[in-house]
Amino acid sequence: MTTLSPALKQATPVIVDHAHGSWIHGTDGVDYLDFTTGIGVTSTGHCHPKVVAAAREQVGKIIHAQYTTVMHKPLLELTDKLGEVLPAGLDSVFYANSGSEAVEAAIRLARMATARPNIIVFQGGFHGRTVAAASLTTAGTKFSAGFSPLMSGVHMSAFPYAYRYGWDESTAVEFALQELDYLLKTRTAPNDTAAFLIEPALGDGGYLPTPPAFMEGLRERADRHGIQLIFDEVQAGVGRTGRYWGHQHSAATPDILITAKGIASGFPISAIAASTETMSKAWPGSQGGTYGGNAVAAAAGVATLEVIEEEGLVENARLRGDQLQEGLTGIQARFPAIGNVRGIGLMQGIEFTTAEGLPDATTAAAVQQETTKHKLLTLTCGPDGNVLRLIPALIVSEDEINTGINRFEAALAAAVGTVPAAAGA
Ligand code: PMP
Repeated sequence: MTTLSPALKQATPVIVDHAHGSWIHGTDGVDYLDFTTGIGVTSTGHCHPKVVAAAREQVGKIIHAQYTTVMHKPLLELTDKLGEVLPAGLDSVFYANSGSEAVEAAIRLARMATARPNIIVFQGGFHGRTVAAASLTTAGTKFSAGFSPLMSGVHMSAFPYAYRYGWDESTAVEFALQELDYLLKTRTAPNDTAAFLIEPALGDGGYLPTPPAFMEGLRERADRHGIQLIFDEVQAGVGRTGRYWGHQHSAATPDILITAKGIASGFPISAIAASTETMSKAWPGSQGGTYGGNAVAAAAGVATLEVIEEEGLVENARLRGDQLQEGLTGIQARFPAIGNVRGIGLMQGIEFTTAEGLPDATTAAAVQQETTKHKLLTLTCGPDGNVLRLIPALIVSEDEINTGINRFEAALAAAVGTVPAAAGA
């Protein structure tokens, strides 16, 4: 009998029969509240009627209109729609299928546009699993161990992870910017540096919002040295953080923006956006691919962006995110196993630590397994695997957030034992 490769690890034993909105219905007959959204993908919830209708209609017209051979209407429409929400000046878009591919397209573009070789990434960043994207990923050695040599020309600088260092945010930002300046003096000269690549909030690296002052410090240095600033908005973009793009919590703007996941509610499509001037520096034909910008995915993308606008989902993400964070912070006061609750919008992380303040992956894993038993789907993340992340759909309701908080607390109590309020204070 053929089986799935054991190289594929699955966080829950759930086999899906069907799903709708924030709910996944398993073949075991159980309705699970889905706070994973396929790792931040099903932004409008599972099978939003408008997205389903758009995809169904497109399937009957043309499925694969290969975009280096012919052009199709959904991709032109999606480009118009994206144009309404992209930061000013980013008026040229290229499409691929996955986040990793878009990251690679951004790197290719930055190197061609600057004629410089090196990329600086920030510790804890996740940028994908293809070999070049894995070379840029420092969210854990599991993403790059065992298949070296990796792509060369990648240098890593510090990320202002205040909680880990035990500092306040401004001290962490100042330190990380100093380290970056030092790297530019000691390892990769500005004239050899094509790009800074950063997530506006670390995703797989631990659900940590990037401090606005750090984003702004990167922008200032990028301008000073002629370095391209690339924001990887694959997980944090398209409303998830309560702003359209995660970087909009700061005053910094990107030269190249990468998006995927949430733009098409589950259909595989990704994009990079830059100014026409920057895009024109790449030679024609340097980007492409068989499946990129698929017509059905693009039609679903147009419907997704319309739903986000019509249903006010960016604002909903902000409100429901605040509600979720407040509930989790209340739980933290009762459970000393939780060292830190942080996040932005519907991207919330719960970091588990031991009594000594060290990362506690065992408890995080136990809680994650318990949440499934309590009919709530969650994931872990972070280099130590000690962060539980909650990623509800942008359509999540107030009641669903309350249900999620209650189920999480019940699962936590089952995993670590109930702690009286006084002990956790
Ligand atoms: N960048 C970020 C920020 C991501 O979160 C991910 C996926 N988790 C990727 C890139 C890679 O995307 P994909 O898995 O679609 O290749």
